[in-house]
Amino acid sequence: MNFNTKVIHGGQHHEPATGSVNVPVFLTSTFAQKSPGIHSGYEYSRAANPTRQALENSLASIENGAKGLAFGSGLAAIDCVLKLLNPGDEVIAVDDLYGGTYRMFTRLFEKYQLKFTFVNFDDVSKISDLITEKTKLIWLETPTNPLMKLVDIKAVCDLVKDQDILVAVDNTFASPYLQRPLDLGADIVMHSATKYLGGHSDVIAGALVAKDRELGEKLHFIQFASGGILGPHDSYLVLRGIKTLALRMQRHSENGQKIAEFLQNHPKVKDVVYPGLASHPQHDLAKRQMPNGFGGMVSFNFKSGEKADAVKFLENVKVFTLAESLGGVESLANHPALMTHASIPADKRAEIGITDDLVRLSVGIEDSDDLIADLESAFNA
Ligand SMILES: *Cc1c(COP(=O)(O)O)cnc(C)c1O
Repeated sequence: MNFNTKVIHGGQHHEPATGSVNVPVFLTSTFAQKSPGIHSGYEYSRAANPTRQALENSLASIENGAKGLAFGSGLAAIDCVLKLLNPGDEVIAVDDLYGGTYRMFTRLFEKYQLKFTFVNFDDVSKISDLITEKTKLIWLETPTNPLMKLVDIKAVCDLVKDQDILVAVDNTFASPYLQRPLDLGADIVMHSATKYLGGHSDVIAGALVAKDRELGEKLHFIQFASGGILGPHDSYLVLRGIKTLALRMQRHSENGQKIAEFLQNHPKVKDVVYPGLASHPQHDLAKRQMPNGFGGMVSFNFKSGEKADAVKFLENVKVFTLAESLGGVESLANHPALMTHASIPADKRAEIGITDDLVRLSVGIEDSDDLIADLESAFNA
């Protein structure tokens, strides 16, 4: 099955009792048994629920994995992966991680004696110097937020291929339409399904997909034992979102490219970061790793370098909504230094390149002419 078909049919069946074409929302905590211990495969909804399972099968299908798992948030999914590890184990992670991931690693899991090393993965060959016999997990995010830096997933997986080290990739920004980490050698894919998978800014949800069944069962045991599952109604919303993922990502990518090019030629704009521009330092890697397009996330700063210009611009967008989050059908604009990345100390922000005049756009699927006209009028305000 090809991807455009998988988003609709992958891992899906009509509901067997009635033939219902859509998976019903199974609002039940428990399931009747015929005789003690003899049941339909479902006992209690924390272990498995038919609506959640339909979503999990869909996730496994679209990421080309053996087992999918759906969680109450993206962070709950990451928490599950870290619980595979034991005290003393070491994790190597990309240095400009999603802030919530960084917070979980350093403020929750360091106290259980996990050791985290944060590094720039620009030169993958340098990573081998950091690997010790205690290294058990490499945590990647690509493209990163908000500076759209890429990591060569295949090069990292090749580097640790014969070692007992798992590679996990946060694939939230790309979605499986644009990038499939398991095909490149990764062991686990993670999503904030709140973003592109859900796609409509109406649900908080997370996902994991494991490449092989044994690892998938270990993760399922942790999910079952820790309890961070996604409820049936939210599972339905994400499943419904996935059906249009291919169409949406196509439009996000078309609009993202047009807006990046518009910004690149705008007299008030200094730098635009978008993997689809030839000026992106890793444009060649982007073409290899994201062959179907480059998505809807675009960041830029101002020639003036003035925070006031960025703020004024953001106060004047009308079709774009000034809000945190990303990946929905509607376009959003964000000021990382004052909003999503405000918890990062100012000197650290400066070091990474998150300047006070940086604006991040999540380009939606509206008409690109309307979006460009909106940006132009905000620049002129
Ligand atoms: C939003 C996000 C998360 C966290 O997901 P939640 O659903 O908000 O818990 C993790 N990684 C990335 C890249 C994100 O954008």
